[in-house]
Amino acid sequence: MLIFKFGGASVKSAEGVKNISGILKQYSEQIIVVVSAMGKTTNAMELITEHYAAEREDEIRLHFDQIKGYHLGIIDELFGDTRPEARRDVASLFDDLALRLGKPPTLNYDFDYDQIVSYGELISSRIVAHFLAACGIPSIWKDIRRSIKTDDTWREARVAWQLTEELVKKDFSFDDARVLVTQGFLGSTINDMTTTLGREGSDFTAAILGHVLKADRVVIWKDVPGVLNADPKWFDDTVLLRQLSYLDAIELAYYGASVIHPKTIKPLQNRNINLFVKSFLQPEAEGTLIGNLTYEKLVPSFIFKMNQVLMRISPRDFSFIDEDNLQTIFSILNKYSVKINMMQNSAVQFYICTNYDKRKLPMIVDELDARFKLSYETGLELITIRYFDQSTIDRVMINKDLILEQRGQQNIQLIVRDRG
Ligand code: ASP
Ligand code: MG
Repeated sequence: MLIFKFGGASVKSAEGVKNISGILKQYSEQIIVVVSAMGKTTNAMELITEHYAAEREDEIRLHFDQIKGYHLGIIDELFGDTRPEARRDVASLFDDLALRLGKPPTLNYDFDYDQIVSYGELISSRIVAHFLAACGIPSIWKDIRRSIKTDDTWREARVAWQLTEELVKKDFSFDDARVLVTQGFLGSTINDMTTTLGREGSDFTAAILGHVLKADRVVIWKDVPGVLNADPKWFDDTVLLRQLSYLDAIELAYYGASVIHPKTIKPLQNRNINLFVKSFLQPEAEGTLIGNLTYEKLVPSFIFKMNQVLMRISPRDFSFIDEDNLQTIFSILNKYSVKINMMQNSAVQFYICTNYDKRKLPMIVDELDARFKLSYETGLELITIRYFDQSTIDRVMINKDLILEQRGQQNIQLIVRDRG
């Protein structure tokens, strides 16, 4: 049994959906297809959520109509008037969403976010399932929220593994079809309230299913040939990493190589399941294999994170950065689910580098400021090099000012400001 995950880029158009069926036809195994939202739908849904929280009805309507038009356009292209039930199904999901958007927001932004943004995956998976049926690939649509159970950490929900194992095994059986289609990114609480697993979390969904069902392998289909040693957005001479150990993969993902979600590796490593990252544009090409592998040293890999904030925190009374102070700082960060991209401390200063979040930053600064002396800088870049040497450092430092650096044996992290 195989798990295939198709992300936003692979389902951004009618052609993308057709491509999925083309790929599935080349396999005879049982397959679970995990789909994320089409194209940039999740970003658009995030915008709707912002307008919803601020009760800006005109903006909500504008974006809602855009998203709806985009999806119905894809349906028209896929089916013409051959499959009215596809249009009906998807239109009724949009009706549900409209109904929710017509109610006043709750006081919990993150809760509302999950209830709204999740429609992206519900809709895309419906469209894919209808298209497979139309192509003569017998498949069943599964609501992943019945099987992946989580706590109520909205937007970053944590999986309740034991319950999830039980439910996934029960629900994902191939008795009636060779292909099951489901949503990435989503889960639900035991009270059946929808949760999401964190941005780009569909890879993690594929890994959860792979782990629980002991899949033969998991394949993430992307618009790049596999895992590259740098994002082609920043470098033109990138190298395809044909093989990666779980360790190298988890390190690269952790530091922000955006091809794989960092939570994806552990569930697969724990059951020794191979993960492939392949191009949906060249399905025959090998891509990257991630598994229990050994090899000589890998080429250097570069990870760039833009739009970073560096906070400098020091106790007001010149006391040390000790366990007590750290505990206070971390509990504040934890409260806002802040992901730390780098941290460093000296006797009386503690540095944290995180992604810039215009909504959260003022709240975090407020809370920290009540207890500590705080300053912060925005508009920075964080560059991580795995298997670095001086020439790789020189290469990325062109036209940059170094703000802070941290060296380990394998990795170096550089917080820099672009000279513009
Ligand atoms: N659609 C979600 C996102 O864009 C999940 C995913 O794509 O993996 O974050
Ligand atoms: Mg996506």
